[in-house]
Amino acid sequence: MQEGLIVKALSGFYYVQPDGADGVVACRARGLFKKQGISPLVGDKVRYEQKEDGSGEGTVIELHPRSTSLVRPPIANVDTALIVFAVTRPDINRTLLDKFLTLSELSGLQSVICFTKSDLLDVPSEDAEALKNQVEQLRNLYERIGYPVFLTSIRAGTGFEPLLSALEGRITVIAGQSGVGKSSLLNRLIPGLTLETNEISEKLGRGKHTTRHVELFRIGRKGWLADTPGFSQLELPDVEPERLSEAFPEIAEASAGCKFRGCLHLKEPGCKVREAVETGEIDGERYEHYADFVTELRDRKRRY
Ligand code: GDP
Ligand code: ZN
Repeated sequence: MQEGLIVKALSGFYYVQPDGADGVVACRARGLFKKQGISPLVGDKVRYEQKEDGSGEGTVIELHPRSTSLVRPPIANVDTALIVFAVTRPDINRTLLDKFLTLSELSGLQSVICFTKSDLLDVPSEDAEALKNQVEQLRNLYERIGYPVFLTSIRAGTGFEPLLSALEGRITVIAGQSGVGKSSLLNRLIPGLTLETNEISEKLGRGKHTTRHVELFRIGRKGWLADTPGFSQLELPDVEPERLSEAFPEIAEASAGCKFRGCLHLKEPGCKVREAVETGEIDGERYEHYADFVTELRDRKRRY
C-alpha cells in the first residue's frame, strides 16, 4: 500500500502522484466508494495499491480526511487562494477583490493577493503617479490586514520568486476576473504549461475554452497549483450574516469590543467597528463592502 495525492481526474481514472516519488499512477476507485456515495476528488490524499497485472495501474483504497473541499472547481485540500488583479487594464475592482477574499475566507482558505502587469506602472503617462500611489496604498492596506501582497510582471519577468516561496508546500487555486493575466501567470509558474492567453485566442478568433478537466501542477519544490480558476461563481455562500465579519479580519478584531453580541456593525449602538471606521483605523471602503455583503445575504434570506 502506498500514499499519494490525486492530481488529475479524467474519464473514471484518478491519477495519483506517489508521495516522495515522480510519475503518476492511473488508478480506478475501489468499488466500495461508489456504494457509499463517495467520489474521490483532485487534491485528495489517498492510500492506493498498485495492481500486480503489470499494467502499471492501481486502485485507490482509502481517502484521508479533507481539510477543505471546494465545489467549483471540485478540489479537496486547497489551502490557498491566489487572488489576481492587474494593476491596470482592467482597473482594480475593489468590490470584487473583497468578494474574492470573502469567498476565500468562508471556504477556510488563506489568501494571497497578486497584482499583475506591474510593468504598466512604469509606462510614462499623465496619471502614472496616481496609479503607482493607488497600488502602493492598496498594498499597504491589505498587508496591514494580514494578506501577503505580491507584484508580478510577465513582460518584465519580475516578482515570481517571492510569490513561489509564499506558495511552497500548499495547494493553491487562482482566482480573478477575465483579462487580469491569470493564464499568463499560470504558464509562468508551472513549467511546461501552455494555456491559451487572451492574446492568442483573440488572434485565433475564438474565446478561451473554459471547460477543462481539473488538474494540479507542481510549482516550486512541493507546492501544487490548479489550472482551473477558483470561485467561478461569485455568489456568497449561504452563511448567517453574523458570520460575515469572520471574513474581514480587521472587522472581526474590532468587533470584540461591540456592546451587543451578534452586532452586525450596521446601526447598532456601542459598535466598535463603526467607531474604528470613523477614526480611519478600518478602511471605509472595506467596511462598505462588508455592509453590502451583509445586505446581500439578508436580501437573499428574505427572498427564500
Ligand atoms: P486571463 O484572462 O486572466 O487568463 O488573462 P491572460 O493571461 O489571457 O492575459 C490577458 C492579457 O493581458 C493578454 O493580452 C496578456 O498578454 C496581457 N498580460 C498578461 N500578463 C501581463 C503582464 O505582466 N504585463 C502586461 N503588460 N500585459 C500582460
Ligand atoms: Zn459592532
